[in-house]
Amino acid sequence: MYHLPPMSYGYGELSKYISKDIMELHHSKHHQTYVDKLNKALDDAPALKERPLETLLADIDSLPTTVQTAIRNHGGGHYNHSLFWQWMSPDGGGQPTGDVAAQITEKYGNFQAFVDEFTSKSLGVFGSGWVWLQPNMDIITTANQDTSMMQGLPAPLLGLDVWEHAYYLDYKNKRDDYIAAWWNVVNWDFVAERHKAS
Ligand code: MN
Repeated sequence: MYHLPPMSYGYGELSKYISKDIMELHHSKHHQTYVDKLNKALDDAPALKERPLETLLADIDSLPTTVQTAIRNHGGGHYNHSLFWQWMSPDGGGQPTGDVAAQITEKYGNFQAFVDEFTSKSLGVFGSGWVWLQPNMDIITTANQDTSMMQGLPAPLLGLDVWEHAYYLDYKNKRDDYIAAWWNVVNWDFVAERHKAS
């Protein structure tokens, strides 16, 4: 049985960049719905309940067809959002340090060039999806609630939700303004933790 994970900061604490209304709706309604529908799908395939979610997502194509789409969408949604709340922080923003900074600079030349490339890929997602920074510093995108594991890749270091539900209340159709604001809340400490563990 999966549960909505509590957030480590209040819904209003990012409000300079992402409003309390969006955070509350996104966490308590959208994410809760992914959790509820994932649990419902697993009730129809109880053997899968024993397996960690990450392995279900990595093996998505081999799951029973009766629950495959539900686990892809709602399992992916639960997995992605559980990380997304941690990738933001009221103390976030600025630039990474240490190994993450060094590898970004090595791959992209400088931090701003990386931000520009990540932003460009985010704007290029047609419809709903996510943008990911991978452990090898590649920037990739996925559609809907797909994860990098569904492409046979490792779990991401950082991810950005570019579904309209993530920004429409604040930014309407201006995804570029949302992305520009989001950099101010990125939790680089969590990215560094994930990088160390990867
Ligand atoms: Mn979302």
